[in-house]
Amino acid sequence: MTPTELRALIRTVPDFPEPGIQFRDITTLIAHGEGLRAAVGHLAKAAQQSGAEAIAGMEARGFIFGAAVAVELGIGFIPVRKPGKLPVPTIGIDYALEYGTDRLEIDPDAIRPGQRVSIVDDLIATGGTAVAATRLLREIGAEVSSAHFVIDLPDLGGATQLREQGVRVDALID
Ligand code: IMP
Repeated sequence: MTPTELRALIRTVPDFPEPGIQFRDITTLIAHGEGLRAAVGHLAKAAQQSGAEAIAGMEARGFIFGAAVAVELGIGFIPVRKPGKLPVPTIGIDYALEYGTDRLEIDPDAIRPGQRVSIVDDLIATGGTAVAATRLLREIGAEVSSAHFVIDLPDLGGATQLREQGVRVDALID
C-alpha cells in the first residue's frame, strides 16, 4: 500500500482530547493488517537507509510502530517511557506541552556509546516529545541519526524543530 492509500486508513476524531483539536487516530490503521504491514515496511526502509542500529519509541503509540520496525530490521528496541515505569534508576527529561509539562525517562544502560539510534513514533505535532527524546538519547550517549513518523502535522512545525537539532526527519503522511 502506498502512503496515499494509508492516509485513507487514518481516522480523524474531532474535539479530542479537547474541544477544537482534530485528533489523527491510527487505531484504524493498525487494525488493518495490510495497512499496518505497509506502514511498518515504509518506516523500516527509511530507518535502514539512515543506518539505524537500534530503534527508540515513545510510550505508547511509538511502541507499536517502533517495536515492529525493530523486528523488521532485526535490531533492538529502546522504550522511552512515561515516568515511574522502568524498574531501574533512570535518566529523565521534563518538557513543555501546550498546557503544563510532561516527562520521559530512559534506562541509561539501554544503548552502547555512539550507537546509531532512529526514533519512531506515530505522529509529530509541535515536536516537543521528539526533541525531548532526542536530548535524552544523546544524554546516554546515542547518536540520534533520524526520526520517522507515520504522520507529520507540518503546520505545527515539529519536524523543523527536530531538524534544527541535527536529526534527519521523515513522515509517511503529511
Ligand atoms: P508533539 O510533542 O506536540 O510533537 O506531539 C506528539 C506526541 O503527541 C506523539 O507522541 C503523539 O502520539 C501525540 N499526539 C499529538 N497529537 C496527536 C494526534 O492528533 N493524534 C495522535 N497522537 C497525537
